[in-house]
Amino acid sequence: EELERVRAWRGPAATSDGERVDVLANVQHGESARQAAGGQAEGVGLFRTELCFLGRDKEPSVEEQAQIYAEVLAAFPEGKVVTRTLDAGSDKPLAFITQPDEPNPALGVRGVRIASLDPGVLTRQLDALAQAAEQASRPLADTWVMAPMIATPEEAESFAGLVRDRGMKPGVMVEVPSVALQAEQVLAHVDFLSIGTNDLSQYAMAADRMSPSLAGLTDPWQPAVLRLIAMTAAAGQQVGKPVGVCGEAAADPALAAVLVGLGVTSLSMAAGAVPGVGARLAQVSREQCRRAASAASAAASPAQARQAAGEALAG
Ligand code: PEP
Ligand code: MG
Repeated sequence: EELERVRAWRGPAATSDGERVDVLANVQHGESARQAAGGQAEGVGLFRTELCFLGRDKEPSVEEQAQIYAEVLAAFPEGKVVTRTLDAGSDKPLAFITQPDEPNPALGVRGVRIASLDPGVLTRQLDALAQAAEQASRPLADTWVMAPMIATPEEAESFAGLVRDRGMKPGVMVEVPSVALQAEQVLAHVDFLSIGTNDLSQYAMAADRMSPSLAGLTDPWQPAVLRLIAMTAAAGQQVGKPVGVCGEAAADPALAAVLVGLGVTSLSMAAGAVPGVGARLAQVSREQCRRAASAASAAASPAQARQAAGEALAG
C-alpha cells in the first residue's frame, strides 16, 4: 500500500496543508539530469561538477566545460538547476588541481580553497557556466551557482563577487559548522544556502564520513547536526532567502519532514528517492513537521530523535 502511494505520487511536492517544498535531484552529468527530469524531480539541487572530470589529468577547456554544463541546464529548461563549482580534494581528488601529499586531506586545500592556490581554475569554470547558460537559453540571473567548503563570510563574499560579475546567482554550501554558526553574516553576501549534511556531519562530529566504524557519529539524525541546520534555516527565514539541504539526509522521508519543520525550503537527493520523500511530505502537515523538528533537535541521541519525530509525524 505504501509502495503504491509512492509509485502514484506526482509533484509538485507540498505538505498536506499546502506548504510547497522544492524536491530536487543530485546529478553528475547530462545523462543523470535527463533521467531525473524523466522522473518526478522538479529540478537539480546539486550538480556535482567535479564528478565530470575524475579521470582527467588536464583541466578541460572552457568550451568543453560549457558544453557539459549546458547539457545539465538543458535537462530542466523551466526548473531550478544549482551548479556546484569543483569540489576537488579529499574523497574526490582531481589530478589537475588536488594538492598531493596533504597529511589530512579532509581538512586541507579542498573545495573552494583550491582557488587560493590557483584562482584561474575557478574563474574559468564560472566563465564556462555563463557560456553554458547562454547555450541552454537560461537567463544568467536564474543560473544558480554555489561553492563547496566555504568556512567564512569573507570567502562567501569573494566567491559571490566572482559569480555576480558574470551576472549569475551566487550561493554557498553549509558544510563547515562555522558557516552554520555565522549564517547571518554569510547570507549578507549570497542569495541562497545549501546545507551539505554529509560533510556538515563529518565536521561537526569530527568523524570521517567514509568510515563505517564511525557511522553512528555521522548519522544525519544526530541532534547536534539538526541544531546546526535549524540555525541556518532560521537565518534564511529571517532575511527571506532560500536554504536547501542537498546531503543524504534529504533522502530519508521522515528526516525530510523534520528538515521542512526546521525551515528548509528545498530538498535535493538521489533522483530515485524523490517519490518516497514527496509521498511522505504529502501525508504530514506543516505543524506536524514543526513538532517533529523541535522534538528531534531536543533529543539526546539519533535513536531518540528518530523516535520522537516518528511520534510527532504520526499524531
Ligand atoms: C555534502 O557534503 O553533504 C554534499 C552534498 O556534498 P558531497 O557529498 O559531494 O561532499
Ligand atoms: Mg560535501
